[in-house]
Amino acid sequence: MKIAAGAEGECSNHLRKSQCRNGRERRLPRRKTSEIRPSFADLASYINSDDEAFLALLQRCSLVRRNLRCKTSNCRRNCNLRRRQSAVLGHVFFCIRCRKMYSVFDGSFFGTLRVPIRTILSLLWNWVCEIRAGSSAMHLGLPRQTVIRQHKYFRDVCSWKLSEQPDLFLLGGPGHVVQIDESPTKQKWIIGIYDCTSPKGYAAYIPDRSSETLLQHILKVVLPGSEIWTDELQSYRCLSVLGGVSPYTHKTVNHSRYFRDPMTGLCTNRAEGYCSRLKGMIRRLGVMQSPFLPEYIDMFLWWQHFGRTAADRFRNVLLHISEKYTF
Ligand SMILES: [Zn+2]
Repeated sequence: MKIAAGAEGECSNHLRKSQCRNGRERRLPRRKTSEIRPSFADLASYINSDDEAFLALLQRCSLVRRNLRCKTSNCRRNCNLRRRQSAVLGHVFFCIRCRKMYSVFDGSFFGTLRVPIRTILSLLWNWVCEIRAGSSAMHLGLPRQTVIRQHKYFRDVCSWKLSEQPDLFLLGGPGHVVQIDESPTKQKWIIGIYDCTSPKGYAAYIPDRSSETLLQHILKVVLPGSEIWTDELQSYRCLSVLGGVSPYTHKTVNHSRYFRDPMTGLCTNRAEGYCSRLKGMIRRLGVMQSPFLPEYIDMFLWWQHFGRTAADRFRNVLLHISEKYTF
């Protein structure tokens, strides 16, 4: 969505109000969060603008609060937004009764971070472009540890969004073919489950390839009625007799003879490809042995669902930040 420059924020003290005309102010209708998706171009055009216009944009995107009630227990008065040169983005919320000031980032994603917001947005753009922490640190003149910490906050948003929408990973169902494959990493394994009919996938970090471990993930994400294709690993045999009558139809391909059955077309290539894409990302980011690998898998799954392109990722991660940090 394009946001017209200067449409809001021209009133000197009240960013919620769109214009001052003869002393009368018109309030803008409150927009739904989902309607506001800033693109990189929107933010890039504002990033070098003055603090007031930039703050107004952040408020319209629901990334920063528009109002704040005083936190003094016997006050709770609505604070005014006031200019204050030394404050973040040149403004504070001010309670005229208690004379208390509050940061404009109070309660927001950016309130806990120690890096200036314009730098965070540049860092976020680098992150969605899969630029490694070391390169990003050099580019932005930040300590590498700071960049690593910020990346973790971005991944936390991805993990939160996935936990909010568990239905995203329901795969298969009647008439669907679901392929399953496991792929080794340096320490453990990754299971890849791919619905060839939808098409969409799921991946998780697993400690071993036992029936119990594999079944735990299969039962969680594969809907009854699916036709499941796997290799002939013994752990999958239980899929045919689950609880006496299996909810799945299970077919196997013998990988010692061929990768794709020439007669039936049976294979696990799509699931293998899904795991390879995940491992490719992990390798590019240089985090193959990271103790945070499960978080990187969440990030990959989030990218698969919400950000095929860097622009989509940038828009959606900001949208999900605005959903997670509500005011
Ligand atoms: Zn007060």
